[in-house]
Amino acid sequence: MKAIRVHQFGGPEVLKLEEVATPRPSAGEVLVRIHAAGVNPYDTYMRAGTYAIKPPLPYTPGSDGAGVVEAVGEGVKKVTRGDRVYTAQTLTGAYAEYALAREQQVHPLPAKIDFKQGAGIWVPYGTAYHALYHSAKAHASETALVHGASGGVGIAALQIARAMGMKVLGTAGTPKGLEMAKREGAHQVFDHRKAGYQEEILQATGNRGADVILEMLANVNLAHDTKLLANNGRVVVIGSRGEVTINPRELMSRRASIRALVLWAITPAEEADIHAGLFAGLENGTLRPIVGKELPLADAARAHKEILEPGAAGKIVLIC
Ligand code: NAP
Repeated sequence: MKAIRVHQFGGPEVLKLEEVATPRPSAGEVLVRIHAAGVNPYDTYMRAGTYAIKPPLPYTPGSDGAGVVEAVGEGVKKVTRGDRVYTAQTLTGAYAEYALAREQQVHPLPAKIDFKQGAGIWVPYGTAYHALYHSAKAHASETALVHGASGGVGIAALQIARAMGMKVLGTAGTPKGLEMAKREGAHQVFDHRKAGYQEEILQATGNRGADVILEMLANVNLAHDTKLLANNGRVVVIGSRGEVTINPRELMSRRASIRALVLWAITPAEEADIHAGLFAGLENGTLRPIVGKELPLADAARAHKEILEPGAAGKIVLIC
């Protein structure tokens, strides 16, 4: 089978398309014919060797795939050959024609969700769901600001927050991203490249502030976020690419808090909750993964360059 292999940590050029043996499922494992794989920013940090998790070399990147069960190992009960599934982590990597996964890592793909969309479920929607429900403990009567609403996690967060009944504000940095954020659930959108946009956000809340801020770039925005919070407001740090200085007094007067998360640190109970919530939303149509760009598997290096460039508009997926 064809798979992307990384033999040394480095730039996007270390992603090589190679021919490798197709794995076979052992007991409790599932072999999935991957039709599409989602590209996430953390795939690039891992490839660079700068992420908290460093896989042993060589390895195949990718946690988010969607496809059809090809074979199952002994004792597998959850799925059978021919089932449509998405993966939430795999054992052998999703940037490949086939991926081996534990039975618990494969999940049914609702009929109305195609494979390209299925490749955009786990990390984006799992993170957004975890941030809103488990970390922020958000309520329908509250206002959410999705700070970075045009990318994978942001679009998922807009759809989930809107389905929860919240008032939803979103930011993006291009006209296309702003239009997409509006279409996918934001009641109002703001250009995070425009000087003074934070004041416009505050005005949109009637100067009360947002109850929940989902932050995709904390190193740039956290100091300002603390000034955009309502009383008892919560910033949830989802993404950060550097250090930042904040004034804790902004939090004290508001009795506000900063929370933070990584998806791989969730508990088994939270994971079960997330998959149940996502399946229901995908099935009833409130959650609709948006594919912004499709590239062939061989173009994984290009995908890794583009995912870090400004101007997000949905998910980048590799067709395997
Ligand atoms: P993505 O698809 O590449 O989207 C990036 C988003 O950040 C876009 O909406 C982009 O908007 C926005 N952005 C750029 N500059 C910004 C600014 N100054 N202020 C606010 N937003 C800005 O990435 P993603 O998959 O959504 O992930 C977003 C971040 O969360 C990444 O850093 C990723 O590593 C992290 N993440 C963390 C976890 C976790 O477990 N903690 C899980 C998933 C993702 P424009 O392009 O329109 O400017």
